[in-house]
Amino acid sequence: MKDTNKHQGLRNQLVKQLQDKGITDNNVLSAIGEIPRHLFLNSSFEDFAYQDKAFPIGADQTISQPYTVAFQSQLLELQKNHKVLEIGTGSGYQTAVLCKMGASVYSIERQNELFKKTSRLLPNMGIRPKKLIFGDGYKGLEVDAPFDSIIVTAGAPFIPQPLMAQLKIGGRLVIPVGDKEQIMTLLIRKNETQFEKHEFGDFKFVPLLENKN
Ligand code: SAH
Repeated sequence: MKDTNKHQGLRNQLVKQLQDKGITDNNVLSAIGEIPRHLFLNSSFEDFAYQDKAFPIGADQTISQPYTVAFQSQLLELQKNHKVLEIGTGSGYQTAVLCKMGASVYSIERQNELFKKTSRLLPNMGIRPKKLIFGDGYKGLEVDAPFDSIIVTAGAPFIPQPLMAQLKIGGRLVIPVGDKEQIMTLLIRKNETQFEKHEFGDFKFVPLLENKN
């Protein structure tokens, strides 16, 4: 598949929709306007790739809805060269958006099939995360901690303690918490022991799976 003017036109429309739904961070909007989402999907989804919807990506997983990607990315309040840990690489679309925003991205995926596929796809598109890791996101990534922010892109039954521990003071953890439906939750680390918590309404994610590697 190629990236054409038609796709660019569809991306511009998607960006307008996201603005209408309340996304204001220009860094987020311009990254979504540039990343060719159709290349992260099977070619049979090419005509739908710029709808604001989640789609299957294999291994029973989904690429997040663009609004969700935008909403989570906006909550991170990224600055250039921020060190970001993503849990749930999946298709690599969210990873690509974060890279395009100028972050230094570390991303963990527990499905080997998706890990391998995305590890090939991103460099082919000229997108270079700092590290893609095959492993269990519940543990975070101790060797590269601390992080300016951490984004979890699967529904977590609870907030894994290692992720809180691997956040810089002032750092932000964005995580959907819950079983069937999740509440988008933002934790801001105030100091060694204290975190400020904000909640942002309901979202629906595939589950963050534990102890299954
Ligand atoms: N950010 C992805 C969203 C993929 S869906 C995208 O833009 O496409 C969530 C992903 O989290 C799935 O690929 C799933 O395999 C992965 N996942 C679930 N539990 C995990 C865990 N414990 N550690 C790492 N990845 C996990």
